[in-house]
Amino acid sequence: MRRTRNVKIVATLGPASDTYETIHALHLAGADVFRLNMSHGSHDEIREKHAIIRQIEEDTGGSICILADLQGPKLRVGVFANEDGEILEDGASFRMDLDAAEGDINRVCLPHPEIFAALEPGATLLVNDGKIRLKVETCGPDFANCTVVAGGVISNRKGVNVPDVVLPLAALSEKDRKDLEFVCELGVDWLALSFVQRPEDVLEASDLANGRAAILSKIEKPAAVNNFNDILQVSDGIMVARGDLGVELPVQNVPPIQKRLVRQCRRAAKPVIVATQMMESMIESPMPTRAEVSDVATAIYEGADAVMLSAESAAGAYPVEAVTTMNNVATEVERDPTYTQIIEASRETRGITIADGIVAAAREIAEKTDIKAICCFSQSGTTAALTARERPRVPILAMTPLRSTARRLTLTWGINCVMTDKLDRFKLAVVASARAATRQGYAEQTDQIVVTAGVPFNVPGSTNILRVAPCDERQIFNTDPE
Ligand code: PGA
Ligand code: MN
Repeated sequence: MRRTRNVKIVATLGPASDTYETIHALHLAGADVFRLNMSHGSHDEIREKHAIIRQIEEDTGGSICILADLQGPKLRVGVFANEDGEILEDGASFRMDLDAAEGDINRVCLPHPEIFAALEPGATLLVNDGKIRLKVETCGPDFANCTVVAGGVISNRKGVNVPDVVLPLAALSEKDRKDLEFVCELGVDWLALSFVQRPEDVLEASDLANGRAAILSKIEKPAAVNNFNDILQVSDGIMVARGDLGVELPVQNVPPIQKRLVRQCRRAAKPVIVATQMMESMIESPMPTRAEVSDVATAIYEGADAVMLSAESAAGAYPVEAVTTMNNVATEVERDPTYTQIIEASRETRGITIADGIVAAAREIAEKTDIKAICCFSQSGTTAALTARERPRVPILAMTPLRSTARRLTLTWGINCVMTDKLDRFKLAVVASARAATRQGYAEQTDQIVVTAGVPFNVPGSTNILRVAPCDERQIFNTDPE
């Protein structure tokens, strides 16, 4: 399906979006990437959603990207005797321990011995997205006695954050390893890693994935912000996971971090998703708040590759409306001349490789003359990603024989993927580009396109050709060099 916007939309699937009809409607409304959240749902449920997405992909004839989000070492309390939980009052005492017995107003189980080992008096424990704040008074290897600094409702399996302590946690839990193997076998395009703290965490997952999926690191811990450069280097993409990030750090720190991360990802030509609470009120309302619209717009003005919906599309009452609203906001921002100005002013042409030079030249030629599209032949997707980093004004067509490359690239700003046959001659690549551009409505027979490729084919990262070509096939055959 042809989209006219460049920024991509990620929609999380859940109980509000688990049928063919709804997921299809989300895709038509603008969702390019679907997120399967491994924190919820059995393997059978994940398998079902996966099959539905692949069916929609076949029925609509494009490429749809699937991102599986691993839960990571997320800490959760146990369960309470009272199903509704308890209300903790300010100033009260509350104990966390390793006792598996059901919790009450005085205590609950926190089944993580490694946390008690790392805690110290004075540390803060945050429960339920930071709504409840506990201060550790005394602690031992199997308990922490706390004072309630900010009270609220605590209930079954609520999340716990420990921002002041670098946790000696393995990057992948036993569950994560099983989930990783399951989704890699199922066939997903991206794996998102939650609560990454160090580059080693990313390397561990990418070893296990072993090329079966690209790796996206979620930045949601202070340690990940501090180690960001090293994490970016070993990741294929990044998510600014503002939900947990805004719990672990003061909320006012999130916007500057978002801006910095988005810029650094563009410089590295790696896709970045801005996530969480983008249209939060649309969980219950068919209309977003003005502030939410502004937040989505800001992420797009900053140059993010993708914006994401979480509970809005997974569990809300208006999943399709949320995607439609995001699509409308994106379309309007990209129509604004100020957007083009900002995006172009923040372009940094500091590349030193031949590929950097070719993608910059392709953009330059396309914009200064009447070229309708830039078609990049790409096996690994690198040339297409570099072209996207240039943020050209004309559409980018990523031409690839590999379905996995097409699906992964779907997350990247501005990239329209086209599947091609395996080719061995550049002239055939030009013909395939001209055909794709005209058939999909990017150009007319009388127009010209720019084609980039690496010859010989099948050698990744060897971009070395730039050709301005006519869309009329007869002309290509008559005038083109081999
Ligand atoms: P989550 O990650 O939705 O899996 O928690 C995103 C975030 O924390 O922002
Ligand atoms: Mn999170």
